[in-house]
Amino acid sequence: MTTRRKFIVETLTSVTAAASVIHPAGRRISKGLSSFEKTFGSTKSTNKPIVISTWDFGIRANEEAWKTLSSGGRALDAVEKGVRIIEADPKINTVGYGGLPDRDGYVTLDASIMDENGNAGAVAFLQHIMHPVSVARLIMEKTPHVMIVGDGALELALANGFKKVNLLTKESKKAWQEWLKTSHYIPVGKYNHDTIGMLALDNSGNISGTCTTSGIAFKYHGRVADSAIIGAGLFVDNEVGAATSTGLGESVIKIAGSHLVVEEMRNGKSPKEACEAAIKRIAEKQKDYKTFQVAFIAINKQGEVGSYAIQKGFQYALYKNGENKLHDSEYLIK
Ligand code: ASP
Repeated sequence: MTTRRKFIVETLTSVTAAASVIHPAGRRISKGLSSFEKTFGSTKSTNKPIVISTWDFGIRANEEAWKTLSSGGRALDAVEKGVRIIEADPKINTVGYGGLPDRDGYVTLDASIMDENGNAGAVAFLQHIMHPVSVARLIMEKTPHVMIVGDGALELALANGFKKVNLLTKESKKAWQEWLKTSHYIPVGKYNHDTIGMLALDNSGNISGTCTTSGIAFKYHGRVADSAIIGAGLFVDNEVGAATSTGLGESVIKIAGSHLVVEEMRNGKSPKEACEAAIKRIAEKQKDYKTFQVAFIAINKQGEVGSYAIQKGFQYALYKNGENKLHDSEYLIK
């Protein structure tokens, strides 16, 4: 079998040897193409627009994102608008308004966003603001920084027209008070797997992504999720593809998970294979991997998607060819 690695080396050698050569698969490779295209041929998508997001609430978020995508809008606008629906839903206690608080009773939010030009914005440990995704976008577009946290992020948001709200709903407060009776903190379990990550490829062939969460319930005050860390909970490289994650953030941060998925796709893996490689990296490096959940979803420039999780039960929502459907992810521990 010709290994993928060997194939890449051979292809790269031929690219450097001549300005215009025929790719082994019959595609012409010429100067002026991106390095990824030089290696793999055309990256023109036949599958666009397309949007993928984590968990069953992704269906509703996709629905919103699709309005932008189907009318020829930008993937960046689509993903921001899509996840805002989930951030604003008080019944979802793992994202935005209504999120479960930290162990001291504060709802603190984390989010990140990346556009097709490699720009990135992130906010962490943000309180009192309903839409951290939009604060992340503000940071990306209106400041010279990538990440702003805590009070600084709140001040910036308020100065830019965001409204201060109470994010702690009655239900979440009740759940916290219940938890206080034992104050038993384990960063795994039923509350901990419902971040929304969303990736989209628009009609122009551009990819953007976002990830937003209230983080692990009853976490330490000041704890930050992978969802706010560029390269961990989210990574977009418009030449190759994008990835985002859900599950135990500490595990994802330790392997720079979403960046790893995108690099695996750059090296020739399909989105599903790339997600699987990242999950297997966790299994190799983290002895306790059987005790928690992590899942990745990914999309490539051709509009192919994939996912992989540690445990059974992860689902992702995929909207393509006019159909919005929930899919069961493949997983490691059978
Ligand atoms: N990744 C999130 C966090 O670590 C939680 C999740 O997606 O379940 O807080």
